[in-house]
Amino acid sequence: MNKENIIKNNEKYFMNVFVGRYPVVVDHGEGIKIYGKDGKVYYDFLAGIGVNVLGYNYPELIDVLKDQVGKMLHSSNLYYIEPQAQLEELLIENSVFDRVFFTNSGAESNEGAIKLARKYYKEAKENKYEIITVKKSFHGRTLATLAATGQRKYQKTFEPLPSGFKVVAFNNLDAVVNAINSKTAAIMIEPIQGEGGVNPVRKEYLEGLKKICKKNNILLIFDEIQCGIGRTGSLFAYEKYGVEPDIITLAKALGGGIPIGAFMAKEEIASAFKPGDHGSTFGGNHLSTRAAYTTLKLLLEKDIIENVNIVGDYFKSQLNKLWNKFSFIKDVRGSGLMLALEFSSYIDAPKLVYDLFERGFLLNAVNEHTLRFLPPLIIKKEEIDLLITELNDLLANKKKQK
Ligand SMILES: *Cc1c(COP(=O)(O)O)cnc(C)c1O
Repeated sequence: MNKENIIKNNEKYFMNVFVGRYPVVVDHGEGIKIYGKDGKVYYDFLAGIGVNVLGYNYPELIDVLKDQVGKMLHSSNLYYIEPQAQLEELLIENSVFDRVFFTNSGAESNEGAIKLARKYYKEAKENKYEIITVKKSFHGRTLATLAATGQRKYQKTFEPLPSGFKVVAFNNLDAVVNAINSKTAAIMIEPIQGEGGVNPVRKEYLEGLKKICKKNNILLIFDEIQCGIGRTGSLFAYEKYGVEPDIITLAKALGGGIPIGAFMAKEEIASAFKPGDHGSTFGGNHLSTRAAYTTLKLLLEKDIIENVNIVGDYFKSQLNKLWNKFSFIKDVRGSGLMLALEFSSYIDAPKLVYDLFERGFLLNAVNEHTLRFLPPLIIKKEEIDLLITELNDLLANKKKQK
């Protein structure tokens, strides 16, 4: 099929839910570069929305996947699966949790975490089921995770949503304390909000949440679907904050491009799930667990997380230089390779994304005035320089226009 026909088919047959797709038909990739079907090259600063941590065509991952494809894709959780066992061990031995469950997406991981929190209090014979979340959070597109998401724009066309969710102000401990009642089961939070605009929570806030949870017998759930798996410079974001959640949810980067999610919990909580309480047909299959096991091993063994710290600091310092130079930049924020640049209200971030796209750079705008950067974790300083040069050039032109 040629480029025009591919786009035409999509417009005719696919449900029209994605806002303004960019006119590129992605063909293949190499390193952090994506090649369009028409031969155009793009430097990828979005990594499939935080998924492709090893970039594209990473040799060790591809070789392992080829081997797995020839062996077995899926058998089911009725049987034991070697890469699933290896991945379980790796995740548990490198975290503070005792047990894991595998899903196929972020929303499913959060659904599982919510179910586990509810079951935990059912087992304890306590009538606690409410989940507190915060404004601008994003927890997924299923009905329960939409109810947990603190953004009206995603929710309002699908009401009534499942009950048992409360949304409170972000980074505000009083708001949480005021929302707690005898039915509160858990507080669910992204340590760094992704879709909401790359908004990090304050360390004291997370520490405060931990105390509030302990005092009131409430579970703390971290949604690390976007900020986990090396993204912020440690395997899990909670390590940087020094605050341990009771349950963590993962997805996006976990499989290095193959769909897989997970949630993990300490034994006391995980043991609330009894045989028959939860399940998944595809979750934890041979291919996705082999992909995730290999991705994690590579992240840990090849000093890629160390690269996130070094290159992430460099990237942020270059963005800070732009901030010093252009008065219409309002903020630079984020951690590791999860960064954002916010402009004054008269700068149109989606338009800037389009200009960068035309110059061969992929990224996105998380809102009308904020650019988000989520590059593959293997990115090099020189590749960051290429983007900064173009961005500087485009912003210098804006200054002239003003
Ligand atoms: C992307 C995302 C989700 C949803 O993941 P899906 O795989 O799209 O279901 C949930 N929480 C956070 C923080 C995310 O970034």
